[in-house]
Amino acid sequence: MQCHYCDRTATFAPEMGGVQVGLCDTHFRERFESFAESDALESLQRDLDAEKSE
Ligand SMILES: [Zn+2]
Repeated sequence: MQCHYCDRTATFAPEMGGVQVGLCDTHFRERFESFAESDALESLQRDLDAEKSE
């Protein structure tokens, strides 16, 4: 899947508003920093880190 905002390959494909959107690292951070209320973002990042390390 390609990033929705640029030409890079999507690293993440979170479901936002019922639609799955491809996001590269940069745009993933941009999108989630914009509305993250810290706790939710931190737990999400922990989940992703755990997946990456496997
Ligand atoms: Zn991107």
